[in-house]
Amino acid sequence: MKALAKSHAEPGIWMIDAPVPEPGHNDVLIRIRRTSICGTDLHIYHWDEWAQKTVPVPMITGHEYSGEIVALGEGVDGFAVGDRVSGEGHITCGYCRNCRAGLRHLCRNTVGVGVNRQGAFAEYMTLPAYNLFKLPDEVSFDLAAIFDPFGNAVHTALAFDLVGEDVLITGAGPIGIMAAAVARHVGARHVVITDVNDERLALAARMGVTRGVNVARESLEDVMAELDMTEGFDVALEMSGVASAIDQLLDAINHGGKVAMLGIPPGEMPIDWSRVIFKGLTIRGIYGREMFETWYKMASLIQSGLDLEPVITHRVAADDYEQAFAIMEEGSSGKVVMNWDS
Ligand code: NAD
Ligand code: ZN
Repeated sequence: MKALAKSHAEPGIWMIDAPVPEPGHNDVLIRIRRTSICGTDLHIYHWDEWAQKTVPVPMITGHEYSGEIVALGEGVDGFAVGDRVSGEGHITCGYCRNCRAGLRHLCRNTVGVGVNRQGAFAEYMTLPAYNLFKLPDEVSFDLAAIFDPFGNAVHTALAFDLVGEDVLITGAGPIGIMAAAVARHVGARHVVITDVNDERLALAARMGVTRGVNVARESLEDVMAELDMTEGFDVALEMSGVASAIDQLLDAINHGGKVAMLGIPPGEMPIDWSRVIFKGLTIRGIYGREMFETWYKMASLIQSGLDLEPVITHRVAADDYEQAFAIMEEGSSGKVVMNWDS
């Protein structure tokens, strides 16, 4: 089968010929139809410090995917050949305290598809059946391929009650934009999103935000005054991983505000903790998706009319992967979906 792999411990990614994997006990074999590229895949492509110490070579990369089941391993219940699926890219241990409490997203032994075990940028992939999510008819293969990052957005956006609240989102990358759409859909009042990239803010505008703010040339304070927000935001979703954005967020949030942090800073990042303390903020870190509450919410949000289509800005054949990675690299796109149908 064709597969996109990190074949050498150096920058780049290569289309290789790999054996079709055999589904083991409790596994399914999936024929991959669509995949989508994550920032993580770019780190692996560039072979940065994190990738060098995390990813064993050779490794088929990719963890955002959709496809259909073509074979079942022994002992698989609840799934059938032909089922359309996407699934969790975090494989959890099942025996740690959190796993046993049903809090699998907090597993301390998580293994990542396409990072620590063979991934989805391939014509076929095996996965424990437990990790699969069956797709309702309303969800296309294209859309299902971005369920992993959509899940990050949903997990973060639904961490706190947004109904009637003023919500600040820092970072209008694909995940920030999807979180904005969710906030709007579930009944937030104002949804204000910041970035330094006009193309991304234009995309956010199509997802129904109240106001996009280019903080490179506009003041968030002025925008708050314009919206008659005298006290500050009730909830903030941090989706940039950028120190100055977090600083701005701590300024703009009201006393007693709630902050969900998804963006990953590149290294250690100082915080003015006195603002956290004096404002009495609640801060929650968000990792991955809740298994599988977030997945059910994602499907329901789509079924109840949330339109995510604008977030997919590029569709590329898997053979044109260099082009797909170049678009991602540029940093102005929404999601880039690769098509594996041959
Ligand atoms: P992205 O890099 O595409 O988006 C980040 C956005 O922040 C970009 O559009 C960038 O222009 C913008 N930005 C830069 N400086 C800014 C500033 N000063 N103010 C506001 N915005 C600014 O990433 P993404 O794929 O949308 O993911 C969002 C973040 O979430 C990333 O940091 C990513 O690493 C992280 N992430 C975390 C998890 C998790 O489980 N915690 C999972 C996936 C992604
Ligand atoms: Zn565990």
